[in-house]
Amino acid sequence: CGIVAYLGHREACPIILKGLHRLEYRGYDSAGVALLNGELNVFKKKGKVSDLEAYLKDKNVHANVGMGHTRWATHGEPNDVNAHPHYSTSERIAIIHNGIIENYAALKKHLEHQGHVFHSDTDTEVFVNLIEEIQKQNSCSLEEAVRLALHEVIGAYAIVVLSKDAPNQLIAARKGSPMVIGIGEGEFFVASDATPIIEYTNEVVYVNDYEIAVIRDGKLDIRSKEDVVQTPYIQKLELEL
Ligand code: GLU
Repeated sequence: CGIVAYLGHREACPIILKGLHRLEYRGYDSAGVALLNGELNVFKKKGKVSDLEAYLKDKNVHANVGMGHTRWATHGEPNDVNAHPHYSTSERIAIIHNGIIENYAALKKHLEHQGHVFHSDTDTEVFVNLIEEIQKQNSCSLEEAVRLALHEVIGAYAIVVLSKDAPNQLIAARKGSPMVIGIGEGEFFVASDATPIIEYTNEVVYVNDYEIAVIRDGKLDIRSKEDVVQTPYIQKLELEL
């Protein structure tokens, strides 16, 4: 399973697909991408990254911001619907997630009462609806909603969140699942390990547990889940391609 995300001046989709190929060694059963270009479009398929690529052939994948995922199913069988990314009920927010949300059943029940509609059997779809509900109830920014959601979920995660209402922003967070951010010239990469990134930049930041990274306006802002600003430690990688 793996995640790759991109925000910058290049076409996001080819970078994401190439990155997903590089993460294939981690194992997976489905793959998908979300692309932000005014619209927030999700394309996903059970099977190989090459099956997703074939499916994308006649689609409009033009975007400078996007994220991709390979899924190793833990909750819900491998199929197109359970593949990531997942939308919130309004379809304005999308998420990719590696890991497990242990208290998803209780959260789901609660969210269903509040009117959220679920299409998949995954724990992940609960996470993105929780973020949407918190944002609605608090009238807060998306990053604040993500931060508050991290206080409610129990389990392990590496997530990336995109919103139609924030066309030039990526939010990422982790606990227990790996995550690294690549810093290029006016462009940023997020991935499960450095292999999708090293071709573009050797400057990386390893995200720590309970940290939230916001990439926006050409800047990377990392905070703890208590909202304390962290100073990112930028490492120089020396990896063989
Ligand atoms: N628990 C999530 C699911 O089953 C994510 C699995 C993964 O790590 O790929 O959809």
